[in-house]
Amino acid sequence: MSDSAATPPPLQGCLFCHTEQSTFLVEGRRLFGMGNNYPVLRCSHCGSAALFDDGGDEPDRWRIRYRRVNRADAYYYVADRLGKAGWLSARDALRISQDGFVQRKRVQQAHLGDLDWLQPAPMNPPPPFVETDEVLFLALRAVSYQEGSLPGLWSRFGPRTVLDSGKFYVTDRSLHLMGQRKTWSHSLAEVQRVAFNHRMWLVDIAAGSQIYQYQGANLTDQYDPQLVAAVIRSLAGA
Ligand SMILES: [Zn+2]
Repeated sequence: MSDSAATPPPLQGCLFCHTEQSTFLVEGRRLFGMGNNYPVLRCSHCGSAALFDDGGDEPDRWRIRYRRVNRADAYYYVADRLGKAGWLSARDALRISQDGFVQRKRVQQAHLGDLDWLQPAPMNPPPPFVETDEVLFLALRAVSYQEGSLPGLWSRFGPRTVLDSGKFYVTDRSLHLMGQRKTWSHSLAEVQRVAFNHRMWLVDIAAGSQIYQYQGANLTDQYDPQLVAAVIRSLAGA
């Protein structure tokens, strides 16, 4: 076994920001108070700090518990999943870290206009609300369509009158909601603003003098709000 295979992954590189050889262990008690004997794993690049249990005689059984994380947009995905998880097993921590790495790359690609990783394709068979050559980028469930707020207010994340909800399709030219009442469609040119937080993403649509919104929750089995927002921004040029 080589030295690097014997060194637990969190000591080879930061699970949070993925910088290599930026982590080091320090004595933990002074930082986080009495009552724990675990050393603190710190990262000199992102500033994250985590309690680290090296697993003792079973090196594969190490555990990590983040106590301080960097909340910059670049770390949106891992900030929630690593930062609020409590103690994580080696397997869970590595899986989240790897997913977070892929997610960050995809957000960067979306910002650069590269959406090929979504494998965009025409819908087959095309539902009646799309044009036959329309190319699908995202399909998301549990999206609502609702009245919007006045422009410029951050309160746009507050409660709204919901007009419909259903499955949402993002194509190369339109947003479609196959709702329970009807199908709503808007050209990407009508997108006024795209926003996200850790709970949801929002797309403001200008329809005459009124603002409407599509809103989707942060669901574990779908693309996260940051990535949805990045894709729609990229397609809409918003
Ligand atoms: Zn880091």
